Amino acid sequence: MTEIVSLNPEAKTERTPASGDNSIPSGDDAGIVERVAGHMAAIMTELKLDLEDPNFSETPARVAKMYLEMFHGLREGAEPKVTTFPNDEGYHHMVIEREIPFYSMCAHHFVPFYGHAHIAYIPRSEVVGLSKLPRILEFYAKRPQLQERLTEQVAEFLWSKLDPLGVMVVIEARHLCVEMRGVKKAGALTTTSALRGCFADRLVREEFLALLRRQTTW
Ligand SMILES: [Zn+2]
Repeated sequence: MTEIVSLNPEAKTERTPASGDNSIPSGDDAGIVERVAGHMAAIMTELKLDLEDPNFSETPARVAKMYLEMFHGLREGAEPKVTTFPNDEGYHHMVIEREIPFYSMCAHHFVPFYGHAHIAYIPRSEVVGLSKLPRILEFYAKRPQLQERLTEQVAEFLWSKLDPLGVMVVIEARHLCVEMRGVKKAGALTTTSALRGCFADRLVREEFLALLRRQTTW
């Protein structure tokens, strides 16, 4: 079962900011862990769990530390530095990084959603190091997220930092909040896409989608 959410570029009138809203300040990790652990302990107490049990006793602090790691994209200074290079080759065709794996957390349920992103852009005067594309994805994935917003944020980041001729991002993901609870549809795949610039042209978009479908033989 595939659910397709496509974002209409013409409906978009304002650009989303490249960075998060309020970032977690650095330098107070111990304090943050202690406070989050306290709240987690309160939740566990409400669930009538025995915090003296050796399997539970360290869980509040463990969860707190895990949140700091999983929500790293909310940290101060987490935004990746994107160095660009002049497009000396005059390359004005598609650059695609596909099947980039990611893990994120559903903003509505605080359980994971995970999958793959495919990122394409067509350079104008600047190109970006290929390793930066997964870093940009990671920055936006490591926070409570919506797949739609994640897709848009990655596209917008590249669009605003690189000023390319076009950019398109497709994300395919499985949501544990859909699979483990509620409608319990195991294996359902949600696909989202966001595009800018010349990817609004159907032929450009189709070239990208055709290249995504291509099977690699090595
Ligand atoms: Zn959810």
